[in-house]
Amino acid sequence: MTENVEGGIPVNFVYTAGIAGEEFLRGLRKGKILGNRCKCGLSYIPPRLFCEDCFSRIEKYFESPTTGKVFSFSVANVNFDGAKITPETIALIEIGESKLMHRLNIPGEKVKLGMKVKAVFKPVEARKGSINDIKYFEAI
Ligand SMILES: [Zn+2]
Repeated sequence: MTENVEGGIPVNFVYTAGIAGEEFLRGLRKGKILGNRCKCGLSYIPPRLFCEDCFSRIEKYFESPTTGKVFSFSVANVNFDGAKITPETIALIEIGESKLMHRLNIPGEKVKLGMKVKAVFKPVEARKGSINDIKYFEAI
C-alpha cells in the first residue's frame, strides 16, 4: 500500500541554458536572433549544440533576420492553471530555414498563415537575456 505524501524535496541547483542556449540569449540581449547551422545543412533557431539529425557538434552561428512568416498559430484563452486570460496569439514563425515560437500582437482572427512579421524587442535597458526580450512579433 502506498501513501500520498505532501511536500517537496529541497533541491539546490542552478539551471543553465547550455552553451548554444546562452549564445542565443546573449544575442537577444543585443537585439539579435541567433541561429546555427550544421555541416549537414540543417539550421536551428534557437541554436543547438548538437545536430538532431547527424549528431555533429555545431560550431557555426549566424545572425538571422528578425523578420519571418507565420507558419502556424494558436490562441490561448486560459493560462497553465486553467484560469481565463486575455486571449494571446502564439505563433510558430518561419525565419529562413528554421522556426521560432513566440507571441504575436495580432488578434487570432486577423492572423493569416504566411503573413510577414517582425520581432519587436524591449528597450535595451529592459532586456535580461531572456526569450521575453522579444516582446512579440508584429505584422509588417
Ligand atoms: Zn547535422
